[in-house]
Amino acid sequence: MRISDDRYTRDRLRLDLALRLIRHEARTYTIRQWTGLSDDRIRKLYRSYVMSHGARGVHRHRGKSPRQVAYFFRHPDVNFQAAQLASLFVVCGLLFGNAAGLEPHYRVGSLESGTLLCQAFEAYLELHSPAVISFEHAWFLLLALSRREELGISRCGNCGGLMLKDLLARRTVSCASCVSAFVGPLAARSALLESRHGAT
Ligand SMILES: [Zn+2]
Repeated sequence: MRISDDRYTRDRLRLDLALRLIRHEARTYTIRQWTGLSDDRIRKLYRSYVMSHGARGVHRHRGKSPRQVAYFFRHPDVNFQAAQLASLFVVCGLLFGNAAGLEPHYRVGSLESGTLLCQAFEAYLELHSPAVISFEHAWFLLLALSRREELGISRCGNCGGLMLKDLLARRTVSCASCVSAFVGPLAARSALLESRHGAT
């Protein structure tokens, strides 16, 4: 009885997570990655979700998942919100900060990690209006920070706030908010782009 109870609970958690991911407009591939449900099962869940909540506001995304780190440096708002999201990943326990940088503390396919990812994204949505980063870009941000090849975090030399660090750029600029306050949003955008293009 105990085993079947546990299995029931896991199935329930799996479906809850899938529905949460559908609400965040995650791609079918992403939902499968985190829940282990089949594409067919996900399609049926999506249809039943739309039938009970209406299709308005929920879209299914097709095509490739985001994979360009440059996205996080194209606009000061995106850059600022991505840094906030990165700190929420740390707060939620998905990333762990140590002297060497950030270490991933999640497992793809774990219902617990998937739930934490949703919690971090939902906290981000609560804090930002309008929120400019989609769930898929949030998941990509977590992946890119975990890989530590192109993206890291550091402290802004000016305000001390957390900022995204382009690990391939020659120099580190102040955070998007400081640059924006100092030179204006347009120049801040150019500075961000310039720091990327200065990468070797
Ligand atoms: Zn700053």
